[in-house]
Amino acid sequence: MADFEQATDEEVLLIDDELWEQLIELTDGAAALCFQCGVCTAICPWGLVRQKPLSVRTLMRQAQLGLQEKNGSLWLCTTCAQCEAYCPRGVNIVDVFRSLRTVAWENRNPEKGLPSLMWSIFWNDNPWSQPPTQRALWANNLDIPIFNPQEHEVMLYIGCTSSYDQRAQKIASALVHILRGAGVEFGFLGEEEPCCGEAVLSVGHKHYFEEVAAKTAQVFQERGVTQMVTISPHCYDVFRNHYPPFSNGFQPLHYTQYLFNLISEGRLQFMKPLDLQVTFQDPCYLGRINQEYQAPREILKSIPGVELVEMENSAEDALCCGGGGGRMWLETPIGERFSDLRVEQAVQTGADILAAACPFCVACLEDSLKVRKTENFEVRDIAEIAARAL
Ligand code: SF4
Ligand code: SF4
Repeated sequence: MADFEQATDEEVLLIDDELWEQLIELTDGAAALCFQCGVCTAICPWGLVRQKPLSVRTLMRQAQLGLQEKNGSLWLCTTCAQCEAYCPRGVNIVDVFRSLRTVAWENRNPEKGLPSLMWSIFWNDNPWSQPPTQRALWANNLDIPIFNPQEHEVMLYIGCTSSYDQRAQKIASALVHILRGAGVEFGFLGEEEPCCGEAVLSVGHKHYFEEVAAKTAQVFQERGVTQMVTISPHCYDVFRNHYPPFSNGFQPLHYTQYLFNLISEGRLQFMKPLDLQVTFQDPCYLGRINQEYQAPREILKSIPGVELVEMENSAEDALCCGGGGGRMWLETPIGERFSDLRVEQAVQTGADILAAACPFCVACLEDSLKVRKTENFEVRDIAEIAARAL
C-alpha cells in the first residue's frame, strides 16, 4: 500500500475496508465532518517547536479513508484539544486520535515504551511501576483516616502520580493541610485506592480502559463514595466524562473547584499575606476540556498579597505543558518541549511564581525551569501556594 503522505499521483492508495469500518465504529464517524481546511495543523503547538508540524489534517484524512498511520506522528498528540477549539466543523479530533491509537494497539503496533506502561497498570495498578503496597507511604505521618461515608463529607482521591512521585506528593500533603485548615471531614482509600485508568485511555487502549474503569467504579461503589475530590485534572476528567457508563453516579470535583466552594461558603480563609505576583498555567484537562477557568484564579485572588498576572495564551488559548495524551511516558527531545515556551511566557510576565493545578504540569514546567536556570522564579502548584497562606 502506498503511504498517504508520500504517494505520487501515479500510485494507488489501497483502502482497508475493515480498518475503515473499525474507525467509523470507534469514533462514531467523527472524522467524516472534516473538510480538510488545515486549521488544526496550523494551531497545533507542535508547529511551534518542530520544523515539521504535526499534520493533524492528514491524520483526519487517513481516518476518513481507513488508512493506517505509519510514521509515528499519531503518538505526538498531547490531547490538549487546542485544535478542537478552532475546528470550524466541530470535529472531535482528540477522540479520533484515541481511536487511531486503539487500532494501532489492536494491530500490535503501539509506540515503543507504551506496552510496559500497560503492564505496570495491569500488575501494579499504577503506571509508575511501583508496588501497590507502597501507594500510601507518602501519607505515613499525616494520619489521614480511611474514608467512611458515615463520618466523612468527601473522599480525597490522591491518584497514582501524587501517590508515587516525590514532587507531586508535596502537592498532596499541601492539600491535606488546607482541608484540615478548613475543618473538612475527609478520608482516603490508602493503599486500596485504585488507578483511574487515565493513562490507559490517553494512549488509546480503549478496551483495557473499560476493564479498569469498571473495576475502579466498583471499588468506589463498595466504599460508598458519592463525592470525591481529585488532585489531578486528568483523574477528574476521566471520572467526570468517561466513567458514567460504569459508575453509580459519584460526583467528582477537581480540588480547585472544591476549595473555591469552601471559600465561597466562608469555610476557608487565607490569613497570611504572601506579597507575590503569580501567573497561572491552565491545565488543558481543567480549562479547555472541562471549562473550569474561574476556580483556580479565585483561589489565588483570595490570598492576601497575591497579584494574578496573565500570560500570553491564557485560559481558552492556554499552551499545553506537553504532558497529556500519554506524553508523560514518552521522551520529548530538548528543544521540542512546549513547557520551555510556557516557562518563557511566564518569566516574561515578571511574576515570582508560575502556578499550576496539575501534577503533570508541575513536572514538565519544573523540568523546563531547571534547564532555563532562572533565579528567583518558582513553579508551584496552587495547593502549595495556598497552604503557605494559611
Ligand atoms: S480544523 Fe477541523 S475541518 Fe479543518 S482540517 Fe482540522 S479537523 Fe478537518
Ligand atoms: S490535541 Fe493538541 S497536540 Fe493533539 S493535535 Fe490537537 S492541538 Fe495538536
